[in-house]
Amino acid sequence: MTARIIECPRCMIDGWPRGSCDCKRRFVKGTGVIIDWCPRCEGIWFDGGELERSFASADRQIEIPHEALAGAFRCPLGHGPLRSFHYPDTLALIEMCEHCFGIWLDGGQFREIRIVRKHRAAEAEKKQREGVRGAICDWIDAKIAELSED
Ligand SMILES: [Zn+2]
Ligand SMILES: [Zn+2]
Repeated sequence: MTARIIECPRCMIDGWPRGSCDCKRRFVKGTGVIIDWCPRCEGIWFDGGELERSFASADRQIEIPHEALAGAFRCPLGHGPLRSFHYPDTLALIEMCEHCFGIWLDGGQFREIRIVRKHRAAEAEKKQREGVRGAICDWIDAKIAELSED
């Protein structure tokens, strides 16, 4: 397990010195999921490689949803501004890097999506999401489910 210090996008905006938030890289038990988790702001960075693999196995081309806009957050791996788009039925914004396809979820947004997810799972008929944004949201749902079982 290689330690990699990421620059937490939230802590960077809040003006904390680089590396001071002590982000931890961890594997989620029983899954292949790798995340970087910031103990200070509780945000999560999902490595883009895994999302890419999941798109490749579904025979689709990964891309940034066309409605995504450049926001204030920057890629913790140094690729510049992240692009953000809404998670449906929430105020939560998902931040995504158009170069490495990594995804940043703020701590509060992670909690909000987790709550909405439970709601969705309770619906007998899950409405189908469309397009690349839908596919990315489904992927995030699956990752949050795996994290929550941890
Ligand atoms: Zn942080
Ligand atoms: Zn990046």
